[in-house]
Amino acid sequence: MPVIVNNDAIIAGAGPAGLAAAETLARAGLEVTVLEQSHEIGSPIRTSGGSFIEEMAALGIPAHLYHPISRVRFLTPGNAAVFDYATPRFCVLDVRGAFQYLAERAVEAGARLRLGTRVEAPLVEDGFVRGVRTGAGEQRARLTIDATGYRSVLLKHPSLNGAALDPGFRRFGVGSEYDLLAPHCDQNEAVLLVGGSVAPSGYAWAFPWGRRRVRVGVGVIHPDSRANPDECVEKLLKDAGRFGVNLKGAQPLEHHSGLIPSERYAQKFAGNGILGIGDAVGNASSLLGEGIRWAIHAGRMAGEVAARALNQDDVSRARLEPFERQWSKRFGPDLRLAHQINLRISGWDDRQWDQRTELLKLLSPEQFAEAMKTNLRGRWLWKFAGSLLKKGHARELAGRLL
Ligand SMILES: Cc1cc2nc3c(=O)[nH]c(=O)nc-3n(C[C@H](O)[C@H](O)[C@H](O)COP(=O)(O)OP(=O)(O)OC[C@H]3O[C@@H](n4cnc5c(N)ncnc54)[C@H](O)[C@@H]3O)c2cc1C
Repeated sequence: MPVIVNNDAIIAGAGPAGLAAAETLARAGLEVTVLEQSHEIGSPIRTSGGSFIEEMAALGIPAHLYHPISRVRFLTPGNAAVFDYATPRFCVLDVRGAFQYLAERAVEAGARLRLGTRVEAPLVEDGFVRGVRTGAGEQRARLTIDATGYRSVLLKHPSLNGAALDPGFRRFGVGSEYDLLAPHCDQNEAVLLVGGSVAPSGYAWAFPWGRRRVRVGVGVIHPDSRANPDECVEKLLKDAGRFGVNLKGAQPLEHHSGLIPSERYAQKFAGNGILGIGDAVGNASSLLGEGIRWAIHAGRMAGEVAARALNQDDVSRARLEPFERQWSKRFGPDLRLAHQINLRISGWDDRQWDQRTELLKLLSPEQFAEAMKTNLRGRWLWKFAGSLLKKGHARELAGRLL
C-alpha cells in the first residue's frame, strides 16, 4: 500500500470539530491534512443548526450565516410557554454555509482538505498511532485526530483496544428532519414540542433559517424509546397546523437524518499519538442534543494542546491529556448536569411535561435562554430561585421538580 503524504497531523472528519482543529494547528505553523469521506463540506446535513447568537459571534461566525429568532414557543400536550426577545438570543445556522466558512478559515491558515477520502483504521506502531489507512493508501502523521462524529471510527477501532479509547456510547439521539420551502411559516419563531405522541423521550422542532426555509424534525433517544423518527416526522408534518406551524404550500427540498451521542462525555480523549474531539468523544450538550459550538470549542482547545505537543516533539498521552483536563474544568460541571437532566426528562410522560411547564413559564426570556444554553449553574439560577421564594412558590417548585 503506498504511503501518500507525511504530515504533522491528520484529522479524520471535516465537521465543525475537525475544521476548527485544522485551523488552529495550521495557524501554529504545522502541516495538517483533513480527510473527509463526503464529496462536499457540510453535506449531507445531519443537524438542524439551532444555536445562540452571542456564542456564534464569540466564535467568529459571521452574522450572515445565521438567522435570528425572536420568539420561542415550547409546547407540551396540554400546556405552552412562550418567550419573546426584543433582542434575539437564539439563531438557526445556514449549516452548509457555516461549515464551509470553517473550512475556508482552515484552508486560509494553511490546512489541506481531501474530500471523498474515507478513513478506515489507525496505523499503530510501537503503541503509538502514526497516521491512518484510507481506501487509497496510508497517510502518515506524527499526530492523528478522530473527528468522525458519533461513529468514533478511529477511537473504536479494535487495533486500539489496549489504549481503551472506545467511548463506548450506547445512548443516542436519533433524528429525522425535512428542510422545507414554507412560504407561510413564521420566520421569527422557533417551536419546540415534547410529549409521547410527538417525540417519545425526545423533542420535535420547527426551526426557520431564512429565505422562507424551515427545518422541521423529530429526535428520539434510543434505546430509551424505540420510536422511529422517520415515522414521527411524517406525522408531525401532517399535524403541524395544530401546533401553529403554518406549512401551507410547503414542499421539502432536503431530508436530513443523523445521530448524536446522548451521554456524558468520554472518560478519555487522548492516547499515544491520537486525540478524539467533538461528537467522537461526546463533547456536545445532551440537554437538547446541541453540539456545533461545543465541537468548535473542542477543536480549538484540542488544536492548541496538540500544537504544543507537536512543537515539543512528544505526542504521548501525557502531553495530549491536558485537553481532557481543560475540557472538564471549563465545561464539565454544566455538561454533566445537562446529561443528568436529560436522563430525567426523557422519562417524563405527558402529564409530567404539562405540570413542569408551569415552572418553565416562571422563567424570564433571558433565564430560559441561559438554561437552553446549558448555563446550568449561572447567577441567573440563584436569582430565579430567589424570586420564586419571594413569590411563595417554594413548595410548588419542590413539588414540581421532585
Ligand atoms: C438530528 C440532529 C439534530 C441536531 N441539531 C443540532 C442543533 O440544532 N444545534 C446544534 O448545535 N447541534 C445539533 N446537533 C448536533 C451537531 O450536529 C453535532 O454535535 C456536531 O455536528 C458535531 O460536530 P463534529 O465535527 O464532532 O461531528 P460531525 O458534524 O458529525 O462531523 C463528522 C465528519 O466526519 C466525517 N466522517 C465520518 N466518518 C468518516 C470516515 N470514516 N472517514 C472520513 N470522514 C468521516 C463525516 O462525513 C462528517 O463530515 C444535531 C445532531 C443531530 C443528529
